[in-house]
Amino acid sequence: MNTSPIKTAEILCVGTELLLGDIVNTNAAYLSRKLAELGICVYRHTAVGDNPERLSRALDAAFSEADLVITSGGLGPTYDDLTKETVAAYFGRSLFLHESSLVAIRSYFDRIGRVMTKNNEKQAMMPEGAIVFPNHYGTAPSLAIEGENNKTAIMLPGPPGELIPLFEEEILPYLQSRRDSVLVSKNIHIFGMGESSVENELKELMTESKNPTVAPYCKEGEVRLRVTASADTRAHAAALCDKMIETVRKTKVGEFIYGIDVDSLEEAAVRHLRSKGMTLATAESCTGGLCAKRVTDLAGCSDVFLGGCVTYANEAKTELLGVKKETLETYGAVSEETAREMARGVRLRLGASVGTATTGIAGPGGGTPEKPVGTVYVAISTEKGEVVRKLSLSAMRSREYIRIVSANHVYDLILKET
Ligand code: ATP
Repeated sequence: MNTSPIKTAEILCVGTELLLGDIVNTNAAYLSRKLAELGICVYRHTAVGDNPERLSRALDAAFSEADLVITSGGLGPTYDDLTKETVAAYFGRSLFLHESSLVAIRSYFDRIGRVMTKNNEKQAMMPEGAIVFPNHYGTAPSLAIEGENNKTAIMLPGPPGELIPLFEEEILPYLQSRRDSVLVSKNIHIFGMGESSVENELKELMTESKNPTVAPYCKEGEVRLRVTASADTRAHAAALCDKMIETVRKTKVGEFIYGIDVDSLEEAAVRHLRSKGMTLATAESCTGGLCAKRVTDLAGCSDVFLGGCVTYANEAKTELLGVKKETLETYGAVSEETAREMARGVRLRLGASVGTATTGIAGPGGGTPEKPVGTVYVAISTEKGEVVRKLSLSAMRSREYIRIVSANHVYDLILKET
């Protein structure tokens, strides 16, 4: 087996359906993510129809730059499935019947109770010298051809239900064996500081540090910094990441870090409450249950989360949470005072250590000059009292964005105020 390291790759997806827009190329996105985790640099995504000449030209172009080409699709039994034949011809390899693949395909058909047709035998034809990876999820085995000049082609079937498990179980270990170093990534999760401010603060680190590298990703008011180090051992690479994380902590970004390698803000908040033996109840207006939903997405949250109330109408706020009528009349439903009483009300009525509340204008309608769309009050109540945060989110953002960011602030308040 070829052991020279693979550094660069192209993902070449085969299928006329892709070009017609009938299917979305999710395989390319998946493979790119996986290769990035392995530290293999993806130069290009290409999609070609089921046409051997164009596929052959695409292979030529791909290998002119990349060490590795991963194809998806075109490994099926029909006449227009030509990936394997075209790639084999590109490497000058002829095909022969691969007995153990034939046995595996036969037993796959036995297992699913269907009769194997003659054309499925085509899927057991393999190029000389190919490495064959058995497919337990379908009929087309995956394969790799290692050619001259460190050029490797890996072929995967198109259906994601086959491609993904095959990649995880077979291709990942193969690619790991083709690397000369170990890669470790750690994620720094940041909330409360925008992407451009984070970039501004860490510009030098991000551009100059090559090992580890530091790359930012952002979503709904959150920033994630991915720190990736390469070294001879996993422990050494992890230590390089930890050193970089410490460096980031010492910058202005440090106070906005809410976790390392956590899945989400809500997970960090629930873990935090659990570590303190505290319980949570949520009151929601503009988020319509999202704060509770995201907490209950976490399996095993019942030791922390007691329950929540979605109180959209004023009457519901009064009856279920005890918000005073005068408060609603004097200050309105979207106000600091109402948010405070909602958080306190839900905490007391459900007997929780922490109550939270959201009330705001998620739009697109309903804004006024004093309270434009994106005005949201987020509150937390504990036995120490209440804290309310006023958000002025951009009215240009979608209703969904305003709700997600409002819920993010609820979790952030839990982390900061308990
Ligand atoms: P089969 O053995 O099922 O024929 P195949 O390797 O020949 O597999 P294709 O026939 O090219 O694969 O595609 C089969 C199905 O896989 C497509 O109809 C589509 O649903 C899915 N698929 C193919 N390519 C992609 C892709 N790039 N991204 C997402 N889905 C894809």
